[in-house]
Amino acid sequence: MRISADFVTSAASAGGFPRDRLPEVALVGRSNVGKSSLINALLRKPLARTSAAPGKTRLANFYRVQRGASPPLYLVDLPGYGYARASEGTGGADKRRDEAKREFDRLAEAYFARAVEQPIGVLLLVDSRHPGLESDLDAWRWAQSLSCPSAVVGTKADKLTQALRTRHAREFESLFHMPVPLVSAMDGEGLDELWKKIASLPRQTAA
Ligand code: GDP
Repeated sequence: MRISADFVTSAASAGGFPRDRLPEVALVGRSNVGKSSLINALLRKPLARTSAAPGKTRLANFYRVQRGASPPLYLVDLPGYGYARASEGTGGADKRRDEAKREFDRLAEAYFARAVEQPIGVLLLVDSRHPGLESDLDAWRWAQSLSCPSAVVGTKADKLTQALRTRHAREFESLFHMPVPLVSAMDGEGLDELWKKIASLPRQTAA
């Protein structure tokens, strides 16, 4: 299937978001979960930056993509802090984390306010190897609190044995109350199925 994809813009606040009202799917997840790699694998181009450095971006990055004859949409790379609990500590790292959280909260609030005008879906990325991380469950609760349809995908599936895939897929399904496809940016496993989910997600009625 032919995919055409372009990086369109990075936005730090509402003024920078695209205004053409295409459907959007926002990808969220912990740093290092494999978000940039998955975006690049989905778009078949190295448009998103990958690195092991956590918190490398505080911006919403918009990629316009058209797959086959499907209507175009934006994949939106959101930074991964919106659902983090603000810490109560006073250490430097805690302080930086709190600042990052506040920054993200402002961005996310402005971003999701647009959901009243246009279809936005939320795709939460979790690491296939680690079902049930508290931060992922926090993220899921946060995603559920938005008035947007949401789904979960497990990354780095190539790192699991077949037996673990079956076991973790079952665990994810019971944690998130929906099937969670396990995908790999490395070998392309599950990406066709994920594309179908992405295409339908922003058009679903929010639960
Ligand atoms: P991000 O911080 O969520 O954007 O994560 P990155 O895409 O930068 O990936 C974090 C690390 O996980 C990098 O070392 C990637 O090479 C690795 N990684 C990402 N996706 C996969 C995958 O599907 N399979 C494997 N084996 N490694 C992956």
